[in-house]
Amino acid sequence: MNHDQARYGDDERYEPLLSEKDTTSVDVDEQSPLPDDLTRDSLELPGLSEPEIARHYTRLSQMNWSVESGPYPLGSCTMKYNPSFTEDVAADPNGAVHPDRSEASLQGTLEVLHGLQDYLARIGGMDAVTLQPPAGAAGEFTGILVAKAYHESRDDDRSEVIVPASAHGTNFASAAMAGYDVVELPSGEDGRVDLDALEAAVSEDTAALMLTNPNTVGLFERDIVEIADIVHDAGGLLYYDGANLNALLGRARPGDMGFDVMHYNVHKTFATPHGGGGPGAGPVGVVDDLVEFLPSPRVCETESGYELCEPDQTIGKVHGYQGNWLVLVKAYAYIARLGDEGLEDASAKAVLNANYLAEQIDYEIPYGPFHHEFAATAGDRDAADVAKRMLDYGVHPPTTKWPEFVPEAMLTEPTEAESRASLDDLAAAFNAAMADSIEDVESAPSKTTARRIDQAAAARNPRLSWQALGDEE
Ligand SMILES: *Cc1c(COP(=O)(O)O)cnc(C)c1O
Repeated sequence: MNHDQARYGDDERYEPLLSEKDTTSVDVDEQSPLPDDLTRDSLELPGLSEPEIARHYTRLSQMNWSVESGPYPLGSCTMKYNPSFTEDVAADPNGAVHPDRSEASLQGTLEVLHGLQDYLARIGGMDAVTLQPPAGAAGEFTGILVAKAYHESRDDDRSEVIVPASAHGTNFASAAMAGYDVVELPSGEDGRVDLDALEAAVSEDTAALMLTNPNTVGLFERDIVEIADIVHDAGGLLYYDGANLNALLGRARPGDMGFDVMHYNVHKTFATPHGGGGPGAGPVGVVDDLVEFLPSPRVCETESGYELCEPDQTIGKVHGYQGNWLVLVKAYAYIARLGDEGLEDASAKAVLNANYLAEQIDYEIPYGPFHHEFAATAGDRDAADVAKRMLDYGVHPPTTKWPEFVPEAMLTEPTEAESRASLDDLAAAFNAAMADSIEDVESAPSKTTARRIDQAAAARNPRLSWQALGDEE
Protein backbone atom coordinates (compact mmCIF):
# COMPACT_ATOMS: atom_id res chain seq x y z
CA MET A 1 0.00 0.00 0.00
CA ASN A 2 1.49 3.34 -0.96
CA HIS A 3 0.77 6.64 0.72
CA ASP A 4 -2.05 7.52 -1.65
CA GLN A 5 -3.91 4.36 -0.78
CA ALA A 6 -3.37 5.20 2.85
CA ARG A 7 -4.89 8.62 2.27
CA TYR A 8 -7.96 7.20 0.58
CA GLY A 9 -10.48 5.45 2.80
CA ASP A 10 -11.29 1.75 2.26
CA ASP A 11 -14.50 2.51 0.40
CA GLU A 12 -12.98 5.14 -1.86
CA ARG A 13 -11.87 4.23 -5.32
CA TYR A 14 -8.21 4.31 -6.06
CA GLU A 15 -6.60 4.20 -9.46
CA PRO A 16 -2.84 3.65 -9.26
CA LEU A 17 -0.49 5.77 -11.32
CA LEU A 18 0.83 4.08 -14.44
CA SER A 19 4.27 4.09 -12.83
CA GLU A 20 2.85 2.20 -9.85
CA LYS A 21 1.34 -0.44 -12.09
CA ASP A 22 4.63 -1.32 -13.66
CA THR A 23 8.13 0.08 -13.43
CA THR A 24 9.94 -1.83 -16.13
CA SER A 25 13.05 -0.13 -17.35
CA VAL A 26 12.98 0.07 -21.10
CA ASP A 27 16.31 -0.32 -22.86
CA VAL A 28 16.93 2.54 -25.20
CA ASP A 29 18.01 1.83 -28.76
CA GLU A 30 21.75 2.48 -28.89
CA GLN A 31 21.60 3.33 -32.57
CA SER A 32 20.41 6.84 -31.80
CA PRO A 33 21.71 9.44 -34.26
CA LEU A 34 21.80 11.99 -31.41
CA PRO A 35 25.11 12.98 -29.73
CA ASP A 36 26.00 10.81 -26.71
CA ASP A 37 25.42 13.52 -24.12
CA LEU A 38 21.81 13.87 -25.30
CA THR A 39 20.90 10.20 -25.00
CA ARG A 40 20.44 7.78 -22.11
CA ASP A 41 20.79 4.04 -21.83
CA SER A 42 17.56 3.25 -20.14
CA LEU A 43 14.29 4.93 -19.42
CA GLU A 44 11.83 4.21 -16.63
CA LEU A 45 8.61 3.76 -18.52
CA PRO A 46 5.75 1.56 -17.43
CA GLY A 47 5.76 -1.57 -19.57
CA LEU A 48 2.02 -1.69 -20.09
CA SER A 49 -0.11 -2.75 -23.04
CA GLU A 50 -2.37 -0.39 -24.95
CA PRO A 51 -5.60 -1.74 -23.35
CA GLU A 52 -4.11 -1.28 -19.88
CA ILE A 53 -3.32 2.32 -20.65
CA ALA A 54 -6.63 3.02 -22.40
CA ARG A 55 -8.50 1.58 -19.41
CA HIS A 56 -6.43 3.58 -16.95
CA TYR A 57 -7.39 6.87 -18.60
CA THR A 58 -11.01 5.82 -19.10
CA ARG A 59 -11.27 4.93 -15.40
CA LEU A 60 -9.77 8.28 -14.44
CA SER A 61 -12.29 10.07 -16.66
CA GLN A 62 -15.13 8.12 -15.01
CA MET A 63 -13.95 9.23 -11.58
CA ASN A 64 -14.21 12.80 -12.78
CA TRP A 65 -17.11 15.06 -13.66
CA SER A 66 -17.66 17.01 -16.83
CA VAL A 67 -20.37 18.91 -18.63
CA GLU A 68 -20.70 15.81 -20.80
CA SER A 69 -21.64 13.78 -17.71
CA GLY A 70 -24.39 16.10 -16.50
CA PRO A 71 -25.27 19.68 -15.63
CA TYR A 72 -22.51 21.80 -14.15
CA PRO A 73 -24.32 24.85 -12.76
CA LEU A 74 -21.36 26.86 -11.49
CA GLY A 75 -22.59 30.45 -11.27
CA SER A 76 -20.40 32.99 -13.07
CA CYS A 77 -18.41 30.20 -14.74
CA THR A 78 -20.94 29.48 -17.52
CA MET A 79 -20.11 25.80 -17.83
CA LYS A 80 -22.32 25.10 -20.80
CA TYR A 81 -22.34 22.13 -23.11
CA ASN A 82 -20.30 23.01 -26.16
CA PRO A 83 -21.55 21.58 -29.43
CA SER A 84 -19.03 19.10 -30.81
CA PHE A 85 -19.22 20.37 -34.40
CA THR A 86 -17.02 23.24 -33.23
CA GLU A 87 -14.37 20.65 -32.27
CA ASP A 88 -14.53 19.24 -35.79
CA VAL A 89 -13.94 22.71 -37.19
CA ALA A 90 -10.97 23.24 -34.86
CA ALA A 91 -9.55 19.82 -35.77
CA ASP A 92 -9.63 20.52 -39.53
CA PRO A 93 -6.03 20.00 -40.66
CA ASN A 94 -6.44 22.80 -43.21
CA GLY A 95 -6.60 25.23 -40.28
CA ALA A 96 -3.36 23.96 -38.77
CA VAL A 97 -0.99 26.41 -40.40
CA HIS A 98 2.11 27.86 -38.82
CA PRO A 99 1.46 31.46 -37.81
CA ASP A 100 4.91 32.52 -39.03
CA ARG A 101 3.94 31.89 -42.62
CA SER A 102 3.63 34.88 -44.90
CA GLU A 103 0.46 36.93 -44.65
CA ALA A 104 -0.29 36.21 -48.28
CA SER A 105 -0.39 32.47 -47.53
CA LEU A 106 -2.46 32.95 -44.35
CA GLN A 107 -5.41 34.68 -45.99
CA GLY A 108 -7.96 32.05 -44.90
CA THR A 109 -6.83 32.15 -41.27
CA LEU A 110 -6.81 35.93 -41.25
CA GLU A 111 -10.27 36.05 -42.80
CA VAL A 112 -11.66 33.88 -39.99
CA LEU A 113 -9.95 35.99 -37.33
CA HIS A 114 -11.13 39.20 -38.96
CA GLY A 115 -14.63 37.76 -39.16
CA LEU A 116 -14.54 36.97 -35.45
CA GLN A 117 -13.29 40.48 -34.62
CA ASP A 118 -16.32 41.79 -36.52
CA TYR A 119 -18.79 39.40 -34.91
CA LEU A 120 -17.60 40.27 -31.42
CA ALA A 121 -17.60 43.99 -32.15
CA ARG A 122 -21.21 43.73 -33.33
CA ILE A 123 -22.28 41.62 -30.36
CA GLY A 124 -20.68 44.02 -27.87
CA GLY A 125 -21.48 47.27 -29.65
CA MET A 126 -17.76 48.06 -29.83
CA ASP A 127 -15.79 49.67 -32.68
CA ALA A 128 -12.79 47.34 -32.73
CA VAL A 129 -11.64 44.08 -31.15
CA THR A 130 -8.31 42.38 -30.45
CA LEU A 131 -8.28 38.60 -30.19
CA GLN A 132 -4.91 38.33 -28.50
CA PRO A 133 -5.53 37.92 -24.74
CA PRO A 134 -5.56 34.22 -23.78
CA ALA A 135 -8.16 34.35 -20.95
CA GLY A 136 -10.79 36.51 -19.34
CA ALA A 137 -8.40 37.81 -16.68
CA ALA A 138 -5.81 38.51 -19.38
CA GLY A 139 -8.50 40.42 -21.26
CA GLU A 140 -9.22 42.53 -18.19
CA PHE A 141 -5.53 43.27 -17.72
CA THR A 142 -5.22 44.20 -21.41
CA GLY A 143 -8.34 46.38 -21.30
CA ILE A 144 -7.12 48.25 -18.24
CA LEU A 145 -3.69 48.76 -19.83
CA VAL A 146 -5.45 50.18 -22.89
CA ALA A 147 -7.45 52.53 -20.66
CA LYS A 148 -4.23 53.54 -18.91
CA ALA A 149 -2.48 54.24 -22.23
CA TYR A 150 -5.46 56.37 -23.26
CA HIS A 151 -5.27 58.51 -20.11
CA GLU A 152 -1.49 58.80 -20.38
CA SER A 153 -1.71 59.92 -24.01
CA ARG A 154 -3.78 62.86 -22.75
CA ASP A 155 -1.32 63.62 -19.94
CA ASP A 156 -4.11 62.76 -17.56
CA ASP A 157 -2.60 61.21 -14.47
CA ARG A 158 -5.14 58.95 -12.77
CA SER A 159 -4.40 56.45 -10.03
CA GLU A 160 -7.60 54.59 -9.14
CA VAL A 161 -9.87 51.92 -10.54
CA ILE A 162 -13.25 51.41 -8.87
CA VAL A 163 -14.51 47.82 -8.53
CA PRO A 164 -17.83 46.80 -6.92
CA ALA A 165 -17.54 44.42 -3.96
CA SER A 166 -19.56 41.85 -5.91
CA ALA A 167 -17.10 41.78 -8.82
CA HIS A 168 -15.14 38.71 -9.86
CA GLY A 169 -11.83 38.50 -7.98
CA THR A 170 -9.88 38.89 -11.21
CA ASN A 171 -11.14 42.49 -11.57
CA PHE A 172 -9.33 43.58 -8.41
CA ALA A 173 -6.21 41.71 -9.45
CA SER A 174 -6.16 43.08 -13.01
CA ALA A 175 -6.51 46.68 -11.85
CA ALA A 176 -3.78 46.21 -9.24
CA MET A 177 -1.44 44.50 -11.72
CA ALA A 178 -1.88 47.43 -14.08
CA GLY A 179 -0.55 49.63 -11.27
CA TYR A 180 -3.81 51.13 -9.99
CA ASP A 181 -5.09 51.55 -6.47
CA VAL A 182 -8.33 49.59 -6.22
CA VAL A 183 -11.30 51.33 -4.67
CA GLU A 184 -13.93 48.83 -3.56
CA LEU A 185 -17.53 49.92 -4.00
CA PRO A 186 -19.96 48.33 -1.51
CA SER A 187 -23.12 46.80 -3.01
CA GLY A 188 -26.36 48.69 -2.45
CA GLU A 189 -29.22 47.19 -0.39
CA ASP A 190 -30.84 45.81 -3.53
CA GLY A 191 -27.61 44.09 -4.67
CA ARG A 192 -26.90 46.71 -7.36
CA VAL A 193 -24.50 49.62 -7.59
CA ASP A 194 -25.50 52.33 -5.14
CA LEU A 195 -25.43 55.60 -7.10
CA ASP A 196 -24.68 57.73 -4.04
CA ALA A 197 -21.76 55.50 -3.11
CA LEU A 198 -20.52 55.73 -6.70
CA GLU A 199 -20.80 59.54 -6.69
CA ALA A 200 -18.75 59.58 -3.50
CA ALA A 201 -16.12 57.21 -4.94
CA VAL A 202 -15.39 58.91 -8.27
CA SER A 203 -12.90 61.75 -8.54
CA GLU A 204 -10.27 63.18 -10.86
CA ASP A 205 -8.20 60.12 -9.84
CA THR A 206 -10.71 57.67 -11.33
CA ALA A 207 -9.22 55.92 -14.34
CA ALA A 208 -12.09 53.45 -14.73
CA LEU A 209 -15.03 51.65 -13.16
CA MET A 210 -15.11 47.90 -13.83
CA LEU A 211 -18.60 46.47 -13.94
CA THR A 212 -20.40 43.32 -15.01
CA ASN A 213 -24.02 43.56 -16.09
CA PRO A 214 -26.07 41.54 -15.25
CA ASN A 215 -23.95 41.50 -12.11
CA THR A 216 -22.78 38.43 -10.24
CA VAL A 217 -26.16 37.80 -8.61
CA GLY A 218 -27.80 38.02 -12.03
CA LEU A 219 -29.30 41.50 -11.51
CA PHE A 220 -29.41 43.95 -14.37
CA GLU A 221 -27.88 47.29 -13.38
CA ARG A 222 -30.90 49.27 -14.52
CA ASP A 223 -29.20 52.55 -13.64
CA ILE A 224 -26.42 51.80 -16.10
CA VAL A 225 -26.94 55.02 -18.08
CA GLU A 226 -26.63 57.12 -14.90
CA ILE A 227 -23.64 55.04 -13.82
CA ALA A 228 -21.96 55.71 -17.18
CA ASP A 229 -22.68 59.43 -16.87
CA ILE A 230 -21.21 59.62 -13.37
CA VAL A 231 -17.99 57.90 -14.45
CA HIS A 232 -17.65 59.80 -17.73
CA ASP A 233 -18.36 63.16 -16.09
CA ALA A 234 -15.43 62.46 -13.77
CA GLY A 235 -13.24 61.76 -16.82
CA GLY A 236 -13.07 58.00 -16.18
CA LEU A 237 -13.73 55.11 -18.54
CA LEU A 238 -16.29 52.36 -18.13
CA TYR A 239 -14.96 48.81 -18.31
CA TYR A 240 -17.36 45.93 -18.98
CA ASP A 241 -16.50 42.50 -17.62
CA GLY A 242 -18.15 40.51 -20.40
CA ALA A 243 -17.40 37.07 -18.99
CA ASN A 244 -21.13 36.69 -18.36
CA LEU A 245 -22.45 37.73 -21.73
CA ASN A 246 -24.88 34.81 -21.79
CA ALA A 247 -27.80 36.93 -20.62
CA LEU A 248 -27.27 39.70 -23.16
CA LEU A 249 -26.47 37.91 -26.41
CA GLY A 250 -28.50 39.39 -29.24
CA ARG A 251 -30.55 41.53 -26.84
CA ALA A 252 -28.48 44.33 -25.36
CA ARG A 253 -24.99 45.63 -26.06
CA PRO A 254 -22.48 46.98 -23.55
CA GLY A 255 -21.46 49.65 -26.11
CA ASP A 256 -25.02 50.99 -26.13
CA MET A 257 -25.00 51.15 -22.33
CA GLY A 258 -22.01 53.49 -22.36
CA PHE A 259 -19.13 51.05 -21.85
CA ASP A 260 -15.84 52.06 -23.49
CA VAL A 261 -13.84 48.85 -23.19
CA MET A 262 -14.79 45.24 -22.49
CA HIS A 263 -13.57 41.68 -22.65
CA TYR A 264 -15.42 38.60 -23.84
CA ASN A 265 -14.86 35.16 -22.35
CA VAL A 266 -15.23 33.16 -25.54
CA HIS A 267 -14.56 30.03 -23.48
CA LYS A 268 -17.70 30.68 -21.47
CA THR A 269 -20.07 32.25 -23.93
CA PHE A 270 -18.97 30.93 -27.32
CA ALA A 271 -18.26 27.20 -27.22
CA THR A 272 -15.05 26.16 -25.64
CA PRO A 273 -15.13 23.88 -22.61
CA HIS A 274 -13.10 25.39 -19.81
CA GLY A 275 -12.00 24.82 -16.25
CA GLY A 276 -8.95 23.00 -14.99
CA GLY A 277 -6.73 25.58 -16.60
CA GLY A 278 -7.67 24.69 -20.15
CA PRO A 279 -7.00 27.14 -22.95
CA GLY A 280 -9.30 30.10 -23.38
CA ALA A 281 -9.45 33.46 -25.06
CA GLY A 282 -10.42 36.85 -23.71
CA PRO A 283 -10.76 39.19 -26.71
CA VAL A 284 -11.04 42.89 -25.87
CA GLY A 285 -13.38 45.34 -27.57
CA VAL A 286 -13.04 49.11 -27.46
CA VAL A 287 -14.75 52.24 -28.71
CA ASP A 288 -13.11 54.44 -31.35
CA ASP A 289 -11.11 56.59 -28.91
CA LEU A 290 -9.19 53.55 -27.68
CA VAL A 291 -8.48 51.68 -30.93
CA GLU A 292 -4.96 53.09 -31.34
CA PHE A 293 -3.84 51.54 -28.05
CA LEU A 294 -4.89 47.94 -28.74
CA PRO A 295 -2.29 45.16 -28.66
CA SER A 296 -0.36 44.45 -31.82
CA PRO A 297 -0.86 42.93 -34.30
CA ARG A 298 -4.52 43.21 -35.21
CA VAL A 299 -6.05 41.73 -38.33
CA CYS A 300 -6.98 44.48 -40.78
CA GLU A 301 -8.81 44.33 -44.08
CA THR A 302 -7.27 46.06 -47.08
CA GLU A 303 -8.29 46.27 -50.72
CA SER A 304 -6.12 43.30 -51.58
CA GLY A 305 -7.08 41.08 -48.66
CA TYR A 306 -6.17 40.75 -44.98
CA GLU A 307 -2.98 41.76 -43.24
CA LEU A 308 -1.53 42.18 -39.78
CA CYS A 309 -1.42 45.80 -38.70
CA GLU A 310 0.03 47.65 -35.75
CA PRO A 311 -2.07 50.28 -33.97
CA ASP A 312 -0.21 53.60 -33.74
CA GLN A 313 0.15 53.78 -29.98
CA THR A 314 -0.15 50.08 -29.23
CA ILE A 315 0.46 48.79 -25.70
CA GLY A 316 2.47 46.01 -27.39
CA LYS A 317 1.92 42.27 -27.31
CA VAL A 318 0.00 40.42 -24.63
CA HIS A 319 0.28 36.98 -26.23
CA GLY A 320 1.98 35.29 -29.15
CA TYR A 321 0.68 35.87 -32.65
CA GLN A 322 -3.07 36.54 -32.90
CA GLY A 323 -4.09 34.62 -29.79
CA ASN A 324 -5.33 31.08 -29.15
CA TRP A 325 -6.40 30.08 -32.65
CA LEU A 326 -8.12 26.80 -31.74
CA VAL A 327 -10.34 28.52 -29.20
CA LEU A 328 -11.04 31.45 -31.50
CA VAL A 329 -12.00 29.29 -34.46
CA LYS A 330 -14.50 27.44 -32.26
CA ALA A 331 -16.06 30.76 -31.25
CA TYR A 332 -16.26 31.79 -34.90
CA ALA A 333 -17.92 28.51 -35.91
CA TYR A 334 -20.39 28.72 -33.02
CA ILE A 335 -21.45 32.29 -33.76
CA ALA A 336 -21.66 31.63 -37.50
CA ARG A 337 -23.82 28.53 -36.97
CA LEU A 338 -26.19 30.18 -34.47
CA GLY A 339 -26.57 33.49 -36.30
CA ASP A 340 -28.47 36.44 -34.86
CA GLU A 341 -31.58 34.41 -34.09
CA GLY A 342 -29.66 31.58 -32.52
CA LEU A 343 -27.75 33.87 -30.20
CA GLU A 344 -30.94 35.61 -29.15
CA ASP A 345 -32.50 32.22 -28.51
CA ALA A 346 -29.50 31.12 -26.43
CA SER A 347 -29.78 34.15 -24.13
CA ALA A 348 -33.55 33.67 -23.81
CA LYS A 349 -33.09 30.06 -22.75
CA ALA A 350 -30.22 30.88 -20.39
CA VAL A 351 -32.48 33.32 -18.56
CA LEU A 352 -35.55 31.08 -18.73
CA ASN A 353 -33.62 28.09 -17.38
CA ALA A 354 -32.25 30.06 -14.43
CA ASN A 355 -35.72 31.31 -13.58
CA TYR A 356 -37.34 27.89 -14.03
CA LEU A 357 -34.76 26.19 -11.81
CA ALA A 358 -35.14 28.88 -9.15
CA GLU A 359 -38.90 28.20 -9.08
CA GLN A 360 -38.32 24.48 -8.53
CA ILE A 361 -35.99 24.69 -5.55
CA ASP A 362 -36.96 25.25 -1.92
CA TYR A 363 -34.32 27.86 -1.23
CA GLU A 364 -34.58 31.51 -0.46
CA ILE A 365 -33.19 33.74 -3.22
CA PRO A 366 -32.63 37.14 -1.64
CA TYR A 367 -31.98 39.21 -4.79
CA GLY A 368 -34.05 39.49 -7.94
CA PRO A 369 -35.38 39.71 -10.56
CA PHE A 370 -32.37 37.88 -11.91
CA HIS A 371 -31.34 36.85 -15.39
CA HIS A 372 -28.92 34.06 -16.35
CA GLU A 373 -27.91 33.17 -12.77
CA PHE A 374 -29.16 33.53 -9.22
CA ALA A 375 -27.69 33.42 -5.72
CA ALA A 376 -29.76 31.13 -3.50
CA THR A 377 -28.89 30.92 0.16
CA ALA A 378 -28.42 27.71 2.16
CA GLY A 379 -29.83 29.60 5.17
CA ASP A 380 -28.65 28.11 8.46
CA ARG A 381 -26.77 25.34 6.70
CA ASP A 382 -23.24 25.56 5.42
CA ALA A 383 -23.41 26.10 1.65
CA ALA A 384 -20.28 24.03 1.08
CA ASP A 385 -21.74 21.08 3.03
CA VAL A 386 -24.98 21.23 1.04
CA ALA A 387 -22.94 21.35 -2.16
CA LYS A 388 -20.98 18.26 -1.10
CA ARG A 389 -24.25 16.46 -0.43
CA MET A 390 -25.48 17.36 -3.93
CA LEU A 391 -22.57 15.32 -5.28
CA ASP A 392 -24.16 12.24 -3.72
CA TYR A 393 -27.22 12.83 -5.91
CA GLY A 394 -25.11 12.66 -9.04
CA VAL A 395 -25.03 16.33 -10.00
CA HIS A 396 -22.36 18.98 -9.81
CA PRO A 397 -23.21 21.65 -7.22
CA PRO A 398 -23.26 25.40 -7.87
CA THR A 399 -20.56 27.90 -6.89
CA THR A 400 -20.66 28.32 -3.11
CA LYS A 401 -20.01 31.12 -0.60
CA TRP A 402 -19.65 33.75 -3.30
CA PRO A 403 -20.52 36.55 -3.71
CA GLU A 404 -19.86 37.21 -0.06
CA PHE A 405 -22.72 39.63 0.52
CA VAL A 406 -25.18 36.76 0.10
CA PRO A 407 -24.99 34.60 3.25
CA GLU A 408 -24.13 30.95 2.48
CA ALA A 409 -24.49 31.71 -1.21
CA MET A 410 -25.13 29.06 -3.82
CA LEU A 411 -24.56 30.91 -7.06
CA THR A 412 -26.32 28.93 -9.75
CA GLU A 413 -26.17 29.19 -13.53
CA PRO A 414 -27.79 26.29 -15.37
CA THR A 415 -27.11 27.77 -18.86
CA GLU A 416 -29.23 27.38 -21.97
CA ALA A 417 -27.79 23.92 -22.62
CA GLU A 418 -30.03 22.09 -20.09
CA SER A 419 -33.38 20.53 -20.95
CA ARG A 420 -36.38 20.74 -18.66
CA ALA A 421 -35.85 17.14 -17.52
CA SER A 422 -32.25 17.90 -16.65
CA LEU A 423 -33.29 21.02 -14.71
CA ASP A 424 -35.86 18.92 -12.81
CA ASP A 425 -33.12 16.44 -11.83
CA LEU A 426 -30.95 19.28 -10.71
CA ALA A 427 -33.78 20.78 -8.65
CA ALA A 428 -34.45 17.38 -7.05
CA ALA A 429 -30.80 17.21 -5.98
CA PHE A 430 -30.93 20.74 -4.53
CA ASN A 431 -34.05 19.90 -2.55
CA ALA A 432 -32.95 16.45 -1.39
CA ALA A 433 -29.62 17.82 -0.14
CA MET A 434 -31.44 20.49 1.85
CA ALA A 435 -33.95 18.00 3.31
CA ASP A 436 -31.32 15.49 4.46
CA SER A 437 -30.27 15.17 8.09
CA ILE A 438 -27.54 17.50 9.21
CA GLU A 439 -25.28 14.47 9.86
CA ASP A 440 -25.64 13.26 6.28
CA VAL A 441 -24.94 16.71 4.93
CA GLU A 442 -21.91 17.33 7.13
CA SER A 443 -20.34 13.97 6.28
CA ALA A 444 -21.10 14.19 2.56
CA PRO A 445 -20.12 13.17 -0.01
CA SER A 446 -20.38 9.46 0.67
CA LYS A 447 -20.92 8.13 -2.84
CA THR A 448 -18.11 9.76 -4.77
CA THR A 449 -14.73 8.40 -5.76
CA ALA A 450 -12.94 10.56 -3.23
CA ARG A 451 -14.47 12.06 -0.07
CA ARG A 452 -13.69 15.47 1.29
CA ILE A 453 -10.43 16.58 -0.14
CA ASP A 454 -8.28 19.40 1.16
CA GLN A 455 -9.29 21.96 -1.44
CA ALA A 456 -6.99 24.71 -0.20
CA ALA A 457 -3.94 22.42 -0.26
CA ALA A 458 -4.90 21.17 -3.71
CA ALA A 459 -4.92 24.74 -5.00
CA ARG A 460 -1.86 25.97 -3.12
CA ASN A 461 0.45 22.98 -3.42
CA PRO A 462 -0.55 21.25 -6.62
CA ARG A 463 1.45 18.12 -7.43
CA LEU A 464 1.16 18.12 -11.16
CA SER A 465 3.33 15.15 -12.06
CA TRP A 466 4.44 11.85 -10.58
CA GLN A 467 7.93 13.31 -10.54
CA ALA A 468 6.77 16.02 -8.10
CA LEU A 469 5.23 13.28 -6.02
CA GLY A 470 8.45 11.30 -6.11
CA ASP A 471 10.53 14.34 -5.11
CA GLU A 472 8.51 14.72 -1.94
CA GLU A 473 9.11 11.19 -0.78
C1 LIG B 1 -14.65 33.73 -15.37
C2 LIG B 1 -14.74 35.17 -15.08
C3 LIG B 1 -13.62 35.99 -15.26
C4 LIG B 1 -12.21 35.49 -15.56
O1 LIG B 1 -12.10 34.72 -16.71
P1 LIG B 1 -10.88 33.69 -16.88
O2 LIG B 1 -10.94 33.25 -18.29
O3 LIG B 1 -11.15 32.59 -15.90
O4 LIG B 1 -9.61 34.39 -16.57
C5 LIG B 1 -13.80 37.35 -15.06
N1 LIG B 1 -14.98 37.86 -14.68
C6 LIG B 1 -16.07 37.08 -14.49
C7 LIG B 1 -17.37 37.72 -14.09
C8 LIG B 1 -16.00 35.71 -14.68
O5 LIG B 1 -17.08 34.95 -14.47
